[in-house]
Amino acid sequence: MSRVDAVLFDWGGTLSEHRDVDLLEMWLAAARVLAPDDPEPVAQQLLAAEDHWWRVHVADGDRSGTTEDLLRSVTEETGLDAAAAAYHSAWGETVAHDPYAVDCLSALRAGGLRTGLLSNTHWPRDLHDAWLERDGLLDLLDVRMYTSEMTHMKPHPEAFLALCRELDVAPERCVFVGDRPRDDVAGAKGVGMRAVLMTGRPVPASDVVPDATLPDLRGLPELVASWR
Ligand SMILES: [Mg+2]
Repeated sequence: MSRVDAVLFDWGGTLSEHRDVDLLEMWLAAARVLAPDDPEPVAQQLLAAEDHWWRVHVADGDRSGTTEDLLRSVTEETGLDAAAAAYHSAWGETVAHDPYAVDCLSALRAGGLRTGLLSNTHWPRDLHDAWLERDGLLDLLDVRMYTSEMTHMKPHPEAFLALCRELDVAPERCVFVGDRPRDDVAGAKGVGMRAVLMTGRPVPASDVVPDATLPDLRGLPELVASWR
């Protein structure tokens, strides 16, 4: 195997901690803006639209998209920005990062490695970057890529290769760390990366075999060092 030059991360359930979030409650924040007198049915529609959105986009070759696309699939209202902002802000209170993330990324960079982020998301960059900055992670990630700005989502090879181009590192010299066997592990291995699976998350199983597994980010710098 080639030497390692970069360590790349998934966000949800990898750099951020998995939380059991009530998705309807998140959409209620948007629905209260769109239909203040009777928000519940609109929130139900938005939740169903989100589920449909992910399934259609995955079935369509892991095509990416934005929260705005999703809102437009439910309502023809103009001025959706306030609804999107309310929805995004509701999420902010649920987000927490792995308590070892700062130390882990700092150790990798101190060892001369480059770092990157690739998240399957319909949320905008500003939202993600603000959460990373709040928790001291923004400047520890050399390149951050969000599929809301890209043509494809993981596990499509284009998503991984776009990150490599941005970092100017060959896929064979990257380690990808993620919690989803299909999206993260199979996707990364498909373009020639090594892949580390974060275990114990409530995600769909798969028979893809990662190069290593970890329960959290502790131990990652040592694992990567053993591959260098
Ligand atoms: Mg994830």
